[in-house]
Amino acid sequence: MKRILVTNDDGVHAPGLQILFSKVQKLGRPVIIAPDRDNSAASHSLTMNRPLRVRKLDKDVYSIDGTPTDCVTIGVGKILAEKPDLLISGINPGANLGDDVSYSGTVSAAIEATMLGIPSIALSLALSDETPLYYETAADFGVKLAALILERGLPQDTLLNVNVPNTATDKIDGVAFTRRGRRLYEDAIKETYDPWGRKHYWIGGGTPSFDADEDTDSAAISVNKISITPMHLDPTNYDALKFLQKDWSDLLK
Ligand SMILES: [Mg+2]
Repeated sequence: MKRILVTNDDGVHAPGLQILFSKVQKLGRPVIIAPDRDNSAASHSLTMNRPLRVRKLDKDVYSIDGTPTDCVTIGVGKILAEKPDLLISGINPGANLGDDVSYSGTVSAAIEATMLGIPSIALSLALSDETPLYYETAADFGVKLAALILERGLPQDTLLNVNVPNTATDKIDGVAFTRRGRRLYEDAIKETYDPWGRKHYWIGGGTPSFDADEDTDSAAISVNKISITPMHLDPTNYDALKFLQKDWSDLLK
């Protein structure tokens, strides 16, 4: 029986997590270990300044008052009897494309599990103006991909960042393997005022730029394809490393 760890950054009660949990039952025994509340944009943070509490909410459902990374660390280290065969993080109700990945708690949970040697997927729904949210589309694809990974494995130190267009499965135009593009937000800092007239800044919203290069994650989503970006744990720029070793070594003597 395959053991599948399911987590997210939106909190244990998030609908995307619950749908994923019920759909992956067909692949083995899933266990939810997720933050007790919304931790979106928590990135890869680890809680070290206070103790963490684990609550068992149901059979195979646990919450922790910490970050997605805390959930993976404590989940694998203390809650699960054995290392899981797979981790799926999601389904995030919002894209994790390009630069989003730097802030993403969804992706960071998958990075943390990859560091522990567990094949991992981050799964996000790339929203448009269209409603409702098509969690089922992302969940069904997640199950299909998970089955393949359980059978074939993933390359060493590599996770998959998956973004699914927010539409019905039969309206999706296939799958694209992509690279991570750039995605910067304009006008993402709002000025607000509290009831006493004091100014505050609220980060969020804004209009993302679109990386139009054909091979990027954003480009795939823009043409209604599922985007799968393989991410390596090692972000070293090897071209720059060679260049620095050759041209800068003498300059820093
Ligand atoms: Mg989120």
